[in-house]
Amino acid sequence: MFINNLNSKVRFFLLDFFGRSQIKNVLHRLREEQYLPYDILCQMSRSKLDHLIIKAKLSVPFYNNIINYDDLPVLKKDTVRNHLNDFKSTQYTKFIFEKKTSGSTGKPLTYYVTSNTRSYLWAFIILSWEVAGYKMGDKVAFVAGSALLNFKTSLKHFIFYRLLNVDAYSAFSLSDKDIESYLNKLIKRKTKIIYGYASALDRMATFINNNSKFHFTDLKGIICTSEMLTESMRENIKKAFNVDVFNQYGCNEGGVSAFECEFHEMHLINTRCYFEINNYGDLIATDLSNEGFVLLKYDTGDLVELSNINDCKCNRHFPIIKHVIGRSRDIVTDLNNKSLHASFFHYLLSPEKTIQQFQILFNQEAISLYLNVDNGIKSNVFYEKYIAEIKKHLKFNKYNLYINSPFLTSDNAKHRHIINTDL
Ligand SMILES: [Zn+2]
Repeated sequence: MFINNLNSKVRFFLLDFFGRSQIKNVLHRLREEQYLPYDILCQMSRSKLDHLIIKAKLSVPFYNNIINYDDLPVLKKDTVRNHLNDFKSTQYTKFIFEKKTSGSTGKPLTYYVTSNTRSYLWAFIILSWEVAGYKMGDKVAFVAGSALLNFKTSLKHFIFYRLLNVDAYSAFSLSDKDIESYLNKLIKRKTKIIYGYASALDRMATFINNNSKFHFTDLKGIICTSEMLTESMRENIKKAFNVDVFNQYGCNEGGVSAFECEFHEMHLINTRCYFEINNYGDLIATDLSNEGFVLLKYDTGDLVELSNINDCKCNRHFPIIKHVIGRSRDIVTDLNNKSLHASFFHYLLSPEKTIQQFQILFNQEAISLYLNVDNGIKSNVFYEKYIAEIKKHLKFNKYNLYINSPFLTSDNAKHRHIINTDL
């Protein structure tokens, strides 16, 4: 098809034309901004926030009576849900696009974005690929569920993804047969970048590591998104595909976009969002790129730890997130109301190399640990020690252990580590 022969300039032009966006300009800006001094970036972030607040006071009904940012309460998803139209700017007359959060965090939230916001999202994604060596026009594979793959919704979407030279591989279908056919396609199509869910890529990696016949000579790098990437998953994926693996983290309705640099530090683009982290570690953010639908001081629902190092070996000065601890709802609460975060279970289970993936289901009565383990050790007895460890920390009436039983899946093919079945 003629699209395959386009140079990067024409690709960007058409991408922005069909996507009603300005990705090229925003990407150009971000490429320069990332190397500005840390203090300048913080000042830019604050002054964009002040500018947005002035606009919000004048044109966003929900904020007509606000005094200043510091006095604002943290904005919860439910408030947005209940006052959806009050967050729309009455002065923003251009088209706004409806979006939905993926729903892996509970009830999906509807929100709206401007063309500028979409441009920031895509520029951020491309910037994160560039760390792995991406050049416009390179073949990219998406391994994902519905959240990333909306190819078929319209002709415009279809053309947009063709211009980006993206192939889709569904994270819903990951039988050995599917994986084998995906891998053959990845190789045949000379795929340069793989972008997808960590759990799906981890599963494919395990398959490759057990079948040494796959070699990805064209591949430049892999970027994981949307799910927690543990160090053991990263090592597994790296070994299988023989390229570097980078993590990415975002919360689009909060304007949060963070990507890993060559030194695996996670840089948060603070010229797109103004953010703060409260004493509990909650990441609170304001999308500075969205003047059409303004959410100030939005609770992302993520727990994050910020690094106090402001200069990275890569010379980028966007602030560094030391640790994305995860969704604050990824928490198990026992009969005594004691809570443990998913990271506890990662810490407990990840040293055991035969465990490929886990899931914990709990309710008022019982806690169930589901382990997907490799074929070497199938016996429950071997893994009882983890139940004993959980017993030391959490009080339930029943403790169950299931080996190689199917996991509970969510509608969007993302793997959830913790599920409260009472909710
Ligand atoms: Zn860096």
